[in-house]
Amino acid sequence: MLEIRDVKKSFGGLTVLDGISLDVEKGDVVAILGPSGSGKTTFLRCLNYLETADSGSMTFDGEKFDLHSTGKRDIARLRRKTAFVFQNYNLFLNKTVLQNVTLGLTSGMGMDKKKAEAVALEMLEKVGMADKLQNYPNQLSGGQQQRVAIARAMATNPEIIYFDEPTSALDPELIGEVLAVMRKLAEDGMTMLVVTHEMDFARNVSNKVMFMEGGKVVETAPSKQFFENPEEERVKEFIRKIQ
Ligand code: ATP
Repeated sequence: MLEIRDVKKSFGGLTVLDGISLDVEKGDVVAILGPSGSGKTTFLRCLNYLETADSGSMTFDGEKFDLHSTGKRDIARLRRKTAFVFQNYNLFLNKTVLQNVTLGLTSGMGMDKKKAEAVALEMLEKVGMADKLQNYPNQLSGGQQQRVAIARAMATNPEIIYFDEPTSALDPELIGEVLAVMRKLAEDGMTMLVVTHEMDFARNVSNKVMFMEGGKVVETAPSKQFFENPEEERVKEFIRKIQ
């Protein structure tokens, strides 16, 4: 479904991505792991044109995207297929839960308000937030806000959802409810790329792991193999430390 090739990105003199490639099949849940500063977030952002890569390409169901493009047409063409869930939720604070989910459908996709509300309600039910339609984000916990953000992502019917450390801003007791929603999405067959430090998620929900360090891929493997029988010494060391 996705063939990502040789993504490179520097900030000033600092090389952050040094030729990252990854293949993603439909229904894959790929956990992107690696130490702090290894380039995980930058990689994910490049895949949605939130950051402009210096070079690299992505073929998405046969459609080619140059990741150094800044063309509005390319950006719109790609984002029709994708959704992004941010670490800090990025909800509109002056909009209700319902409005946060409908806005992208009405102004972004031209859907009429009634239909958008029906879609939003269905998605908010899936994430257990249908009883808070008229609340504003600051009346919700972080876990609830993130669940609304996931409903907003699902509502646009994307072919893939990118998650950038979706639980790392949450209090420990709120992490489980967000991971449960993500697990359900994965079971429903959604294709997901997830930058995370949650090893239980990487081990038990994702089917593929990509481990990065210093802007390079150290190893990409099926999750079971990654955790039980990795090839690279660096990954073996990582696994030893987290056990
Ligand atoms: P973490 O797990 O801590 O979130 P990460 O693997 O996601 O780390 P990135 O956030 O991609 O790493 O950052 C990689 C490197 O790029 C870091 O050294 C960071 O300081 C740098 N960096 C990221 N964004 C920018 C930017 N906009 N301008 C300059 N440097 C940046």
